[in-house]
Amino acid sequence: MFWKKLSHNEIKEIVFDALHKNANYRSQAVLGVPGTYLDSEQFYPDAPFLKDAPYMSVMVNNPNHIGCHTLSEESVLDIFEGTQKIEKELIKICAEQIFHGKENDADGYVAPGGTEANIQAMWVYRNYFMKEFGAKANEIALVYSQDSHYSMPKGGNILSLTSIILEVDEEDRSIKQEDLEAKITQARANGINYFIVVMNLSTTMFGSVDDIDRVASYFDSLGVEFKVHVDGAYGGFIYPFTNPESRFTFKNKYITSFTSDGHKMLQTPYGTGLFLIRKGYMDYVCTDEAQYIPGKDYTICGSRSGANAVSIWMILMTHGSAGWQYKMESLCDRTSRICSKLDELGVKYFRNPHINIITIKSDFVSKQLAEKYHLVADSYEFGAKWWKIVVMPHVKQGHIDSFLMDLEAERKAVAV
Ligand SMILES: *Cc1c(COP(=O)(O)O)cnc(C)c1O
Repeated sequence: MFWKKLSHNEIKEIVFDALHKNANYRSQAVLGVPGTYLDSEQFYPDAPFLKDAPYMSVMVNNPNHIGCHTLSEESVLDIFEGTQKIEKELIKICAEQIFHGKENDADGYVAPGGTEANIQAMWVYRNYFMKEFGAKANEIALVYSQDSHYSMPKGGNILSLTSIILEVDEEDRSIKQEDLEAKITQARANGINYFIVVMNLSTTMFGSVDDIDRVASYFDSLGVEFKVHVDGAYGGFIYPFTNPESRFTFKNKYITSFTSDGHKMLQTPYGTGLFLIRKGYMDYVCTDEAQYIPGKDYTICGSRSGANAVSIWMILMTHGSAGWQYKMESLCDRTSRICSKLDELGVKYFRNPHINIITIKSDFVSKQLAEKYHLVADSYEFGAKWWKIVVMPHVKQGHIDSFLMDLEAERKAVAV
């Protein structure tokens, strides 16, 4: 994995150059599009700071990145081809450098978030099974673990797919093989022959990572049609950097697509989910009726701000691959340091060593302490069994120290 770090000036130059290649609503006769710059009463273009603020300048200029720009050489709305090229470059870096895909072998776009990117994948595979195999909606199931994000049931509901929810082990949060085999055998007996399998590249609650090879090879051994989507909304920008042995890459033949959110680990603004998929699949969700867009539409969302794509690209360039790896490894180190202290105190918890999440068994932390430090529970409806700590960049060592001191005092009081 390698891409070079760029200086603020280099980034600024590239982004402003891209903006100049876009049509400019202020200086050109752009008569036919239903878009324009941001309201100039509030977002006045002559604010002096803007000439030094590439992201804000893109926001104010308001390019629309509607559609999917990796599909063909010409841009979708060519009046924004400058910034759309940055999005293409971003997809290329993520697919090829972070997820080790072959050159020019992936399509993708910056979705509003992980929810859409996950549903986009389900939509592609549902249509793929219908078109290629004549599958009916009730013959297609969506398979995911009980620890998966709620965008899975949401997507299943929107797309009319049956959900098969796999149980996980209470302690290590891994998908139970017996439950997988029992539920898939039952589903096949009920006439389900096509499977959309979502594997977690870290769940939100536990930071657990599904055993993709074990689960996918089971489907493979059955000889059924299945497709695997990876939900890396949370872990997509950390795990590939902290685990050099990651099986979550395009080199893994079982994987067809990824979700990887910028607005979780990468600290980009909200609106920066990322969807990546091997070439040859986006056509299954082409909306031919999108006649007013020269390149047609292939996404769920339609219009979307070009500034979002630019923001992800800028963050990746600000750090370079080595800088980002250092940052993610540092978060993992800080997480491990907390784990050592928990071990010392005899506190039981779950943690994947490549992820910056620790989930503590609720028996070991009082509700008052959890609330004081804003720990998040696994369930608010049924009572907390686990409380989690997410070691994000704002979680400083001082905060961690005072939490651990309070915890130690509480454990000692309990022991008496
Ligand atoms: C946050 C998250 C999502 C959903 O992402 P949004 O950007 O909030 O739509 C999906 N899956 C996982 C694992 C997540 O952590």
